[in-house]
Amino acid sequence: MSTDITLDFHVHGLGHGEPPHTPARLEPFIRQAAKKGLREIGLAEHEWYKEALKFETFTELRQMFPGLEIRVGLEIDFRRGRQDLGSLVACPWDYLIGSVHEIDGWSYDEPGEEDGFAAWDIDELYRRYFQLVAEVAASGYFQIVGHLDLIKLYGHRSRRPVVELAEGALRAIARAGMAVEINAAGLFRPVKELYPAPELLSRCFALNIPVTFGSDAHEPDQVGRGRAEALELLRRVGYTRLVGFKQQEMYTRNL
Ligand code: ZN
Ligand code: FE
Ligand code: FE
Ligand code: ZN
Repeated sequence: MSTDITLDFHVHGLGHGEPPHTPARLEPFIRQAAKKGLREIGLAEHEWYKEALKFETFTELRQMFPGLEIRVGLEIDFRRGRQDLGSLVACPWDYLIGSVHEIDGWSYDEPGEEDGFAAWDIDELYRRYFQLVAEVAASGYFQIVGHLDLIKLYGHRSRRPVVELAEGALRAIARAGMAVEINAAGLFRPVKELYPAPELLSRCFALNIPVTFGSDAHEPDQVGRGRAEALELLRRVGYTRLVGFKQQEMYTRNL
């Protein structure tokens, strides 16, 4: 039995920087993955870089690092009424992450947007957020829900139990056969907690929703971060394996 998380499926090799998308640019991320003992790394750039991505770069990286499985995904900003999802998913991605970074035109997780929380009743906001997550699931385009409870990033907590507010979304995820990720980025935001919260992950487990892991690294030294915390949470909840994706097919890895 292995005793660690050996994959990281949420890595932004371009961060928020400028292309070009070259092997030299991504190499430090892969090197770090190897150094941390990962066996699989999933490069999932923000969709804004879709046109800049060079699939030859992935081919070259695979040749440079034969000991590591390199998967290629994309993190997509889900918005209600988007008509172009079909064209976004036309490339040979191993997986697509559907993320709700925006509510009714408000990019709540961006720097400077925190004040917007004051305009909402917090339970209404959570409801609205999880409605959009349910739509991510129902759309049929994605394999993984990104950072399931990102709306908590600044520590605004719902009054009603979050599992209640999220139940519809979780059922939609289960119905769609999608995975959620344990995303380490929350540890480094004001909330200082993994996404999702333990009670949400427990509910995912009860609904047989598979889980993967993502550091959400934007810098090489962030690859694989938070794995110890994630492993502890997974074990506490009862998960004994993680899932990965290749050509949009799910496979499992024992923990
Ligand atoms: Zn980002
Ligand atoms: Fe995101
Ligand atoms: Fe991300
Ligand atoms: Zn993300």
